[in-house]
Amino acid sequence: MQSYEYYAPRSLPDALEYLAENAKNCRIIAGGTDLIPALRNEDIHPAFLLNIMEIAEVGGISETEQTVRIGAITTFNDLAESGLIRKEFPILSEMALSVGGPQTRNRGTIGGNIASAAPAADGLPVFLSLDAEVELSSRRGKRNLPLNEAIAKAWTPAWGNDELITAIRIKKLPSGTRTAFYKLARRQAMARSRMTISLILRRDPAGIIEELRFVPGSVMPVPRRMEEIEKLLTGKVPTDELLDQAARAVGEEMVKVTGIRWSTGYKKPVLGNLFRIVLSQLITAG
Ligand SMILES: Cc1cc2nc3c(=O)[nH]c(=O)nc-3n(C[C@H](O)[C@H](O)[C@H](O)COP(=O)(O)OP(=O)(O)OC[C@H]3O[C@@H](n4cnc5c(N)ncnc54)[C@H](O)[C@@H]3O)c2cc1C
Repeated sequence: MQSYEYYAPRSLPDALEYLAENAKNCRIIAGGTDLIPALRNEDIHPAFLLNIMEIAEVGGISETEQTVRIGAITTFNDLAESGLIRKEFPILSEMALSVGGPQTRNRGTIGGNIASAAPAADGLPVFLSLDAEVELSSRRGKRNLPLNEAIAKAWTPAWGNDELITAIRIKKLPSGTRTAFYKLARRQAMARSRMTISLILRRDPAGIIEELRFVPGSVMPVPRRMEEIEKLLTGKVPTDELLDQAARAVGEEMVKVTGIRWSTGYKKPVLGNLFRIVLSQLITAG
């Protein structure tokens, strides 16, 4: 059994002070759905535990004309129930509803999902497809970092150990943009993703793709936008031939990152086909 000092402040300055004083040996705890199992298994041995769930500045969902700010302690349930999120980023509502079971969705937070930097984290690819930024706070001040820079390596956030995520910021999408999230798992709930597809699509009235963002999840150590695939399709009408070509290229792009592994024979064709199916559905929907 481990012992550690536990602190649950109500103010952000108090939390940042505590974090700065104990940075080397302190772990932040939000919903605890990743952290508590790691503590129980003795995978980690912190001397200090900082609970951020009581801090108002780290919660809430708000908007300006251009952007939406989602507090880091927003749970998957909060996200799924938010009318603002459903209106602006339905892809986030779909992702939130796909996570775990009701207990995990009640406790698990988006800040914890991003900070875990797990290859199979469901939030990470969706936020990447939305070109999200993380708002990081420390006693030294506040800064915004693009998510693809904040998580550059699996399991390892690229920010200081005296910093915590206070929020995620996302620019609103131009009107006419459609989004889709698809999760392939062994069961519909309580199962880690085998792979996910996050897509953002905008076409002009003639059907030409004006913007495409595509992030596959759970297939690479760190999820990333597949820019080669985006370039292949942007500026063109997505004919069946072009979609077939893109589906093949998706598998090739994955292998460029992962190399050939025991699962490649399955993942390479399935990822390409799933991409094609989900994109075709988005196209057919309008
Ligand atoms: C049964 C079960 C099912 C699950 N199913 C899914 C699933 O379907 N999809 C999925 O993606 N995940 C799933 N998970 C994993 C987990 O629920 C998510 O990753 C969740 O979002 C973690 O959030 P949390 O608030 O519980 O994080 P915690 O466990 O509290 O923390 C996780 C990590 O993030 C750090 N951290 C937390 N908040 C911050 C912050 N604001 N700033 C900096 N660092 C921070 C912690 O120090 C810790 O290292 C599942 C877990 C369980 C137990």
